[in-house]
Amino acid sequence: MSTGIGVTHEELRSGVRELCSRFSDEYWRDVDRREAYPEEFVSALTEAGWLAALIPESYGGSGLSISEAAVILEEIQRSGANAAACHAQMYIMGTLLRHGSDEQKQEWLPKIASGQLRLQAFGVTEPDAGLDTTQIRTRARRDGESYVISGQKIWTSRARQSDLMLLLARTSAPDEEHGRTFGLSTFLVDLREAPEEQLRIVPIETMINHNTNEVFIDELVVPAENRIGEEGMGFWYILDGMNAERILIAAECIGDGRWFIDRATRHARDRVVFGRPIGSNQGVAFPLAWAHARIEAADLMRRHAAELYESGQKAAAEANMAKLLAADASWQAANACIDTYGGLGFAREYDVERKFRETRLYQVAPVSTNMVLAFLAQNVLKLPRSY
Ligand SMILES: Cc1cc2nc3c(=O)[nH]c(=O)nc-3n(C[C@H](O)[C@H](O)[C@H](O)COP(=O)(O)OP(=O)(O)OC[C@H]3O[C@@H](n4cnc5c(N)ncnc54)[C@H](O)[C@@H]3O)c2cc1C
Repeated sequence: MSTGIGVTHEELRSGVRELCSRFSDEYWRDVDRREAYPEEFVSALTEAGWLAALIPESYGGSGLSISEAAVILEEIQRSGANAAACHAQMYIMGTLLRHGSDEQKQEWLPKIASGQLRLQAFGVTEPDAGLDTTQIRTRARRDGESYVISGQKIWTSRARQSDLMLLLARTSAPDEEHGRTFGLSTFLVDLREAPEEQLRIVPIETMINHNTNEVFIDELVVPAENRIGEEGMGFWYILDGMNAERILIAAECIGDGRWFIDRATRHARDRVVFGRPIGSNQGVAFPLAWAHARIEAADLMRRHAAELYESGQKAAAEANMAKLLAADASWQAANACIDTYGGLGFAREYDVERKFRETRLYQVAPVSTNMVLAFLAQNVLKLPRSY
């Protein structure tokens, strides 16, 4: 398949593969052990232009499609790397691209595309609101030419490695006329300029190396010109980006799934017990065959969702199903892989346990499996709403 700018998916894949091959299993094991940010990897991706895939050429990006961005993320995961260190830039800048003013786009997008600025942090989730985003308590109060923001975010990943953060805050109380989804606004917060008394980032220790944080915001002054789009419409702007995010996450899961199958089948052929390769036992081979079939099916749904999205058709159901099926498939593959490795699956040096932990996240974040099922039940099957 050829892209709009004449690059085939195969060329994209081999370009990303070549870059990823410079970052060995040892590299990823080491950053995981040190809970360090894979700075060299993210810089290399940025320099190669992969992170600017979705930024239009007129702003210095590559102007690729969602299918192509998905191929990039899939190949990163398939190589054994972890795109979570940088994938958010692809989703977040969509809000700026779709809803930002011409001045904001001119100001920020070329710098993001060139790597001069990183837009990697997305401050939506709050401790007391959970998945019910309309209940967030972070407030932004208009004060002349600025907003003054106070509140707390949780799970704001990469906030310490980002120059900019897209922040969702309430600018007006929910009212009966507009409903609870109205009154939220999106802001581009320049983290470089935020004084520590006004914005404090506290890392959270997690089971994976994800560089995620709590962010405490106390009377942070943000210029009104950094509000993206109209006041009060932020919830819809975030929702707008969800289909793209679901498709990209599905691609990451598919990449993970293929990594597990590659490793597991190799091990199943090589490891000899009871005088024969363990892969000749159907108890070992069949779970891998199942997982492979699930990954391929999820891949078809992800491609279908991307096609609908790119042709401007409704893609919410398909994008959600792609994410659901792909996250499930990668988790099945992870389990089949660790079973194939037996005890060795628990040894750090084989990387299976690291990828196993990493792929588990996709059942929970950026959206939980239950929320996807609720979306399908309510919006596709027209069952009564649960919330
Ligand atoms: C490592 C990591 C990185 C993250 N990065 C970011 C980030 O960069 N930016 C950001 O804003 N957020 C981020 N998140 C937050 C993530 O999006 C949320 O954790 C996720 O959406 C789930 O929300 P919650 O943890 O508040 O769960 P809760 O809302 O507390 O829900 C807990 C459980 O209850 C279930 N549940 C809740 N309500 C219902 C219902 N009505 N029906 C059925 N089940 C229900 C959920 O499915 C979930 O399993 C990250 C999370 C993690 C763990």
